Amino acid sequence: MGPLAPQSDNGPIRYTHYLTKGLIMHEMSIAQSLLDIVTSEASRHNAKKVVRIRVRAGELRGIVPAHLNHFFQFVSKDSIAAGAELDIEILPVKARCNPCDTIFDVEDFNYQCPQCKDKDVETVQGLELMVQDFEAC
Ligand SMILES: [Zn+2]
Repeated sequence: MGPLAPQSDNGPIRYTHYLTKGLIMHEMSIAQSLLDIVTSEASRHNAKKVVRIRVRAGELRGIVPAHLNHFFQFVSKDSIAAGAELDIEILPVKARCNPCDTIFDVEDFNYQCPQCKDKDVETVQGLELMVQDFEAC
């Protein structure tokens, strides 16, 4: 039994349930955070309605844009951001090689430098999660 294995004998079902629930909470809580950021900033500027929100999310965040959009429409329905268009840009994973400074795209979790083949690298893009900007009136 691995560390994530369920505690009961009807395990596999509960395990799946746990993962599904975790996934929903993940995007639901991100949607709620986005809403909080945008509505507080919009009311500070006396905006009446938020029409468009641009979000940048690193690929490693594992966000499915359609899911995030779905949850955002749900949490925002009684707010000034109701019906706002959510424009989600997924940023691909990039790493920088420490020995030779090469910045390269990481594909299929291959963190080896294509230039010098070293594996002493740092992720420089792919973990972001931010509201780039938004439009309101
Ligand atoms: Zn290198």
